[in-house]
Amino acid sequence: MSGGVLAVQFLAKCATDIRERLPNREVDVNYTDEIARAATLLCEARYAVALTGAGISTPSGIPDFRSPGSGLWERVNPVIVASIHAFRIRPKAFFDWVRPLAEKMMAAEPNPAHLALAELEAAGCLQAVITQNIDGLHQRAGSREVLEVHGHVREATCTRCHTVVPTGDFLDDFLGSNEVPRCAVCGGVMKPDVVLFGEQLPAGVLNAAQAHVRRADLLLVAGSHLDVMPASQLPFLVHERGGRIIVVNLMETYIDAAAEVVIHADVADVLPRIARACAQARGEG
Ligand SMILES: [Zn+2]
Repeated sequence: MSGGVLAVQFLAKCATDIRERLPNREVDVNYTDEIARAATLLCEARYAVALTGAGISTPSGIPDFRSPGSGLWERVNPVIVASIHAFRIRPKAFFDWVRPLAEKMMAAEPNPAHLALAELEAAGCLQAVITQNIDGLHQRAGSREVLEVHGHVREATCTRCHTVVPTGDFLDDFLGSNEVPRCAVCGGVMKPDVVLFGEQLPAGVLNAAQAHVRRADLLLVAGSHLDVMPASQLPFLVHERGGRIIVVNLMETYIDAAAEVVIHADVADVLPRIARACAQARGEG
């Protein structure tokens, strides 16, 4: 793991060095060339995989709760209230904080970025989506091979007797009250099957994600700042093995310096244009 951290630091330094050496080049705000290049790379790839983060769901109205200013930091620090330690001690504080986020998640619909990735997969240009999101919007958009490394909100597990139930069983009661959801069998606190801060990632899902990454000769990073380990390390693993990287994200990431294509723009605008260019290249457009 420390090797990965060192590599990340090294790449970040390379990015700074390269920026300092480059003259101020005019950036095409439409990213026409970059989109065409990204489409070509996707069409040519033997095994392309996408890695998505909060930025792909913000156009669907789901705030990035790690970002101060999202409205979810007003009273508490999510890193503290959404930690497994805080959950065990004061579950009510967690559920009171998460209730407005859950409401937004339930009301959210997949946006054009989710749909574009589903379209690329259906066309055979993308093999899997690895996501840091818990909202299930990739599946609702039609993506089939989705690896949710931070868990999901479809089910919850009793913290006492480990009974698993669909969250739909208690969601309306939870949203309409101030109560902590309780297990119908033993009365224990129900925990949604999401990875809280300080918790291990689900090993099976993480292993499957890493297996896809080991096969990948192209990784499309979409809407992730790549600042949450260990998912943030996956692009480095692809790059290390000679694979190509495409980054579509509003802000810079550590892997930009090593990426073949970098587009700092809204994924909901860019990914459909890439999918369209791929379809045209296949003669379907
Ligand atoms: Zn129970």
